[in-house]
Amino acid sequence: MYPFEDVTKEFSVSYEAKELDGYPVLKAEPFTLALTYHKNHLMDFQGEGNVVLSIPCDRCLKPVSVTVPFVIDMKVNLDTKQDEDHEDVYFLSEDELDVDLLIEPEIQMGIPMKVLCKEDCKGICEKCGADLNEGPCSCDRSEAPTPMAEALMKALQNSH
Ligand SMILES: [Zn+2]
Ligand SMILES: [Zn+2]
Repeated sequence: MYPFEDVTKEFSVSYEAKELDGYPVLKAEPFTLALTYHKNHLMDFQGEGNVVLSIPCDRCLKPVSVTVPFVIDMKVNLDTKQDEDHEDVYFLSEDELDVDLLIEPEIQMGIPMKVLCKEDCKGICEKCGADLNEGPCSCDRSEAPTPMAEALMKALQNSH
């Protein structure tokens, strides 16, 4: 039986996955998820929190701890399992709520386009792959990059 009045219940949940888009999850504190049931079979999902991901520096690939905040604010029709924009939601199956699937898109939106280990990261040498933050290498950069450096550069470009 469905209740006749709006009912809100709060749950303490957390993001359980060990990685997201290949980025290791370093920390995911529990947060409060509020579910409000409305009599027209609509349910609000509301909550906010943050996770800490390990994301490689855009220039030198060193892992950087990045705190990514997320906000959940969604209304879902429980009959059609669609949100307000009539998009299917995938975090509801039968009577189960998959918290990870609910949060994931919100975290993905919060991941910065560019992560740097520090503002002035010098990156890696295109030729020998040396970390230029640890000092200059002896390469003459007017020459073509080595296959090793090219592979590294490719990995950098594909990391986003
Ligand atoms: Zn860096
Ligand atoms: Zn070099």
